[in-house]
Amino acid sequence: MRRIVSFHYTLRDPSGRVLDSSAGGDPISYLEGAGQIIDGLDEQLRSAAAGVKSRVTVPAKKAYGERDPAQVQRVRRALLPFEGELKIGDQFQTGPDRADPVVTVAGIEADEVLLDANHPLAGVDLTFDVEIVTTREATAEELSHGHAHAAAEGGCGSGCGCH
Ligand code: ZN
Repeated sequence: MRRIVSFHYTLRDPSGRVLDSSAGGDPISYLEGAGQIIDGLDEQLRSAAAGVKSRVTVPAKKAYGERDPAQVQRVRRALLPFEGELKIGDQFQTGPDRADPVVTVAGIEADEVLLDANHPLAGVDLTFDVEIVTTREATAEELSHGHAHAAAEGGCGSGCGCH
């Protein structure tokens, strides 16, 4: 049986800095084994029941991957599609869509810029403090769509993107 799991989380890096959290909003729901959340977290929550609080550490290779030096590219500053000052650590999206990759300015040398297309969390071991809110059995429709719906009844709902 594959489950729909709803949970709250706070994500920290190894220094303890909070990177992301669902606190104050709705819990996150996902279908187990569907790639909706990072693999390492999905695997470690397989047997967790509603009400369970746990701390899950996911090594980088099971989260956003190890850093790939080949993903760092040198481009001419003049080719970047915006004006203004750049500094190391600046991040921007390479296209208009939320899914477009984010690149990070890794270096600036004269009229060239080093852009790092690794995920900002590549190479980072992640720690999640998780609280399982609800679990239920996935419906046949959810299994065929490969994702969680807001409720077992009522189909995809808005924002699902599978119609
Ligand atoms: Zn759906």
